Amino acid sequence: RAKHLGRNGCQFHSEAVNAQAFERLALENALHQALDRGEFAIHYQPIFDFRTGRVVAVEALLRWRHPEVGMVVPGQFIALADETGLIVSIGRWVLKAACTQVKAWRDAGYADLSLHVNVSGRQLREPGLVEQIAEALEQSGLPPSALVLEVPEASALDKGHDPGAIFARFTALGLGLTIDEFGSGYSSFAFLRRLPANALKVSQGFVRNVANSSDDSEIVTAIVAVARGLHMNVIAPGVETPEQLSFLASFGCDQVQGFLLARPMPADEATAFLARPEPPTALVRKVTS
Ligand code: C2E
Ligand code: MG
Ligand code: MG
Repeated sequence: RAKHLGRNGCQFHSEAVNAQAFERLALENALHQALDRGEFAIHYQPIFDFRTGRVVAVEALLRWRHPEVGMVVPGQFIALADETGLIVSIGRWVLKAACTQVKAWRDAGYADLSLHVNVSGRQLREPGLVEQIAEALEQSGLPPSALVLEVPEASALDKGHDPGAIFARFTALGLGLTIDEFGSGYSSFAFLRRLPANALKVSQGFVRNVANSSDDSEIVTAIVAVARGLHMNVIAPGVETPEQLSFLASFGCDQVQGFLLARPMPADEATAFLARPEPPTALVRKVTS
């Protein structure tokens, strides 16, 4: 009987593993076809200048409109796209589409608008990335100075490649570089000094607790101090409450982003958002106080 149970248990286990593998395979197949089928879309989340309250940039955030599942967020497929290498062709599409959109906004009168595009570790290791970027800029007509790459701290630190050499090629093109999720990993100051980054984007975890944890507010204060010393800007993302906004303003963060001010939105909604005459109310109070 025990033997029987054991076998059953084993069979159950392998079925579960199979189901998981099947799901992954199904997702991978769907992801393969998504690009050809035009299922990807880009949402744009505004980034505001703390001093003026103006939108200075938009961050491109990828969305997948799966025909059956509906809207899929990056957390559910970016890792797989990274592992399979699909991120390379998806990333090329993102760059082209987003550069074209932001060029159109600049031509429509938002002449100083910049574009932030997220780049994964796998994309960074791809030898063709710099050419991909140059091509997207050339085809769209967006000037290199209007494009900022957001590289997660963990990927910037990746031992598998020489970040200094890759980042030097970005700078040679004239691009901006922001270290995303800053403070979440193991950045050393020595390392930071060698990076040609223009800005640090604070890890959202610190922002979340900035109003109710003195440790986290001290950390953000320290990040601002380091950035100042290295002539970098500080971007505070993930701001959801007026309290968080107040703290971040008092710490001297340069730019701010979050659901409190604007959510990621499709291009047509972002067009309407940009046309608003006034900054979001929560930010106006900060700017004028
Ligand atoms: P990220 O670059 O750190 O982007 C910020 C994430 O936080 C976005 O999630 C955004 O929707 C969300 N967010 C913005 N404001 C708030 C807020 O106030 N509160 C909270 N709780 N969340 C907020 P999303 O769009 O799901 O993207 C997740 C991650 O996927 C991104 O993190 C980025 O690492 C990656 N990703 C997105 N698009 C691309 C892409 O085109 N290429 C690559 N390689 N990665 C991408
Ligand atoms: Mg980002
Ligand atoms: Mg993040």
